[in-house]
Amino acid sequence: MEDKKIRVRFAPSPTGMLHIGGARTALFNWLYARHYNGTFVLRIEDTDQVRSTEEAVNVILEGMKWLGLDWDEGPGKGGEYGPYFQMQRLPLYQEFAEELLKDEKAYYCYCTREELAESREKQAREGKNPKYDRHCLNLSEEEKKRYEAEGRKPVIRLKIPTREIVFNDLLRGEVTFDGELLSDFVIMKSDGIPTYNYAVVIDDALMKITDVMRGDDHISNTPKQIVIYEALGFDVPKFAHIPMIMGQDHTRLSKRHGATSVMEYKKMGYIPEAVVNYIAHLGWSSGGEREIFSKEELIKEFTLDKISRHAAVFSMDKLNWFNSEYLKNMSIDSLTEMLLPFLKEANYIEDEENLSPKKNEYIKEVVKLMQGRIKNFAQFVDYADYFFVDKINIDPQAFDSVLSKEGVTGILQALKEKLSVLKCWDEESIENAVREVASSLQIKGGQIIHPTRVALSGKKVGPGLFELMVVLGQDKTVKRLKEAIEKIEEAKKIGS
Ligand code: GLU
Repeated sequence: MEDKKIRVRFAPSPTGMLHIGGARTALFNWLYARHYNGTFVLRIEDTDQVRSTEEAVNVILEGMKWLGLDWDEGPGKGGEYGPYFQMQRLPLYQEFAEELLKDEKAYYCYCTREELAESREKQAREGKNPKYDRHCLNLSEEEKKRYEAEGRKPVIRLKIPTREIVFNDLLRGEVTFDGELLSDFVIMKSDGIPTYNYAVVIDDALMKITDVMRGDDHISNTPKQIVIYEALGFDVPKFAHIPMIMGQDHTRLSKRHGATSVMEYKKMGYIPEAVVNYIAHLGWSSGGEREIFSKEELIKEFTLDKISRHAAVFSMDKLNWFNSEYLKNMSIDSLTEMLLPFLKEANYIEDEENLSPKKNEYIKEVVKLMQGRIKNFAQFVDYADYFFVDKINIDPQAFDSVLSKEGVTGILQALKEKLSVLKCWDEESIENAVREVASSLQIKGGQIIHPTRVALSGKKVGPGLFELMVVLGQDKTVKRLKEAIEKIEEAKKIGS
């Protein structure tokens, strides 16, 4: 009976941002659901009342939306198996806990923190593997009443069967755990809030999840969850534990390895499709050389057998490569449109909606020049600043090494004079003018091109100089050459 409709879920805890690891889990589940025409459920696991925030929920939803990972059931969508926030499902957890109590598969435990610590220490001293000593397993009604009269509030513990727990991981094959090592863990806390392992099972079972795909940091939770499925007579879903993501230094991915929050990539001006394409490759590959895939192509190609058994390594360079590829292949119109909010943010334009056609045309020309040179939009704003400001910042290192060289003012002066009277402002005429000045001064092209670039842009590198001048326009070019000459002379005065 293999044609049961696939139902998968992404179940984040809203305790922080949507990080790369979470986004990868979400994406793999989404791709899997879409590949098999299944259902992708989003469930918010907000039982950690201290660390869960509404803001984090919004950040997660926003991140998913930005990446284009739409869910079929979940927050804002509803669905047959809701609610999709765990804190709205408390009566369900209670109901099943009561069933377990009735069947004597779970029991109340009144032990205090101190008593538990003491028991653990004792076991450790005896060289035993510390686990709950089952002090409360067979309490009589009187004993329970006495504890309650003392003001103790019980938790509910699951009675763990002492046997092997085996499951077949879709990626790792057979995994065996010794049930003997598991402690009778808590399923309901004394405040009526379920623990993660318990709530996740009730939810996955009631939401009819067929395949649980998640990071392999959860693998030690899986046997505990299987025991709960079995105790309640639920079908056990299939499990696939995806190898973790590490930084280049092969330690667990963290802030040290660059931005780990998906929304930071939005802020930096990455293209969501490129980020998705890259994240898809963190632990998955199509099997061939090809790496650029549209979402539709990823959906078509995504199967579990292509998931790697080894940890994935996050590389900022690789992500930049993906993003640059997407940038290169985008139309100037779409690039310009995506760029506008960044220009606005930098105060380079006033109102992105009411741009004059002339300004819009100008931005497009700049975009054309920069398209092949940038990794993201934040970098565009940085690299192309001189097209948008009146007074440019000259990189001090470029000033010292290029502009303050002997004879530069004379060269810039000669060029300024030539360009200020140039009749036709196109690439060819500008190039001819530059070459003529070079030959009349008997210098090489580079000796005029380098200082001119720094004078016009403040930087040592950038797009082709003649194209740059065309876009900048004749007036601004001449004005910047004049300003550079003044700056150099001023610096000489101060220096002498
Ligand atoms: N809320 C859990 C987490 O964010 C979900 C784990 C699971 O997928 O079962 O790690």
